[in-house]
Amino acid sequence: MTSSSRNDPVGLDGYRSDTAVAGVPAGDGSAIAVSFEFFPPTDPEMESVLWASVRRLESLAPRFVSVTYGADGSTRDRTHEVVTRIGEETSLAVAPHITSIGTSRDAVLDLARSYWSSGIRRLIALRGDAPGSAPTHVPGPDEFRWGLDLVRGLRSVADFDISVAAYPEVHPDARSPSDDLDNLRRKLDAGATRAITQFFFDNNAFLRFRDDCVAAGITAPIVPGILPINRFSQVQRFARRCGATIPAALAKRFEGLDEDAETRRLIGAAVAIDQVDHLRQHGVQDFHFYTLNRAELTYAVCHALDVRPPRPVAVAPIEA
Ligand SMILES: Cc1cc2nc3c(=O)[nH]c(=O)nc-3n(C[C@H](O)[C@H](O)[C@H](O)COP(=O)(O)OP(=O)(O)OC[C@H]3O[C@@H](n4cnc5c(N)ncnc54)[C@H](O)[C@@H]3O)c2cc1C
Repeated sequence: MTSSSRNDPVGLDGYRSDTAVAGVPAGDGSAIAVSFEFFPPTDPEMESVLWASVRRLESLAPRFVSVTYGADGSTRDRTHEVVTRIGEETSLAVAPHITSIGTSRDAVLDLARSYWSSGIRRLIALRGDAPGSAPTHVPGPDEFRWGLDLVRGLRSVADFDISVAAYPEVHPDARSPSDDLDNLRRKLDAGATRAITQFFFDNNAFLRFRDDCVAAGITAPIVPGILPINRFSQVQRFARRCGATIPAALAKRFEGLDEDAETRRLIGAAVAIDQVDHLRQHGVQDFHFYTLNRAELTYAVCHALDVRPPRPVAVAPIEA
């Protein structure tokens, strides 16, 4: 955090990079591309929220939408159902997440083959975390051990457009930041097209990371993962698990709002708009949104980025 962070919830003001980034023009109002992540719902109520959100965000013509996959294949069927339905009922390009931990190589590759034969051309390839005990997971002899091995396996199946994960604040299991960066470089060299980052709230961390990628010879797009905040306590839990920093000034903005959903939403929108606006000023043109299956905040942030439907649409609020 910088000295200016008091009025700077996402740690924006302290970063002034002059590093030229290959293929990234300065924020000049050029077209912005967005993608949206959803997760498979667990009950009928969440299901209707998901589909209303998919429909609303479809109007913004994202580059693709992605659907998460539980480690151990735990959401295999539900992920597949959501992916299939998006393919059949919408105009969206869909990218299923595939994780490899706790699953045999054959099962992972069979799934990839079945996606390819049903017309799916994009995948998000991830090692995944073993539930509750990632550091102690001992991969079986027939498992892909790392995300890198998974990317290589998927490339052997077909010419997928593969996105991999990147960590501006370093993955918690990494031996060192440079090791983590080298791992990313190898995943991209093995045939991934782009990296999507873990969410972060300190833009300085992302911008430094992007500079480090350039210095390491990475030319693939590094797409920031943006998590618009609705429930702050939930986000704190996520952040603890993945090692994302929560700047003190950001926590202060949400202080006392646990029981005040409406103000929370307004603050959440203001924070996320500040964050993406600043990234855009630093030449970022691709954004991936962790929607948590809720359209409202993401839609508002996209509007602020000038990502809008061709014609304004009247919308009824999505009930929780
Ligand atoms: C955009 C995005 C989407 C995600 N979606 C999902 C999802 O749908 N389902 C899910 O379960 N999880 C998901 N995750 C979380 C992800 O699965 C975890 O962060 C997981 O712990 C790491 O996956 P990875 O593919 O980055 O692993 P890897 O690239 O294998 O890296 C994992 C760790 O191992 C280290 N490492 C890599 N190779 C070696 C080596 N040879 N020796 C020693 N250390 C090594 C790396 O530095 C890193 O610390 C997502 C994360 C992101 C950023």
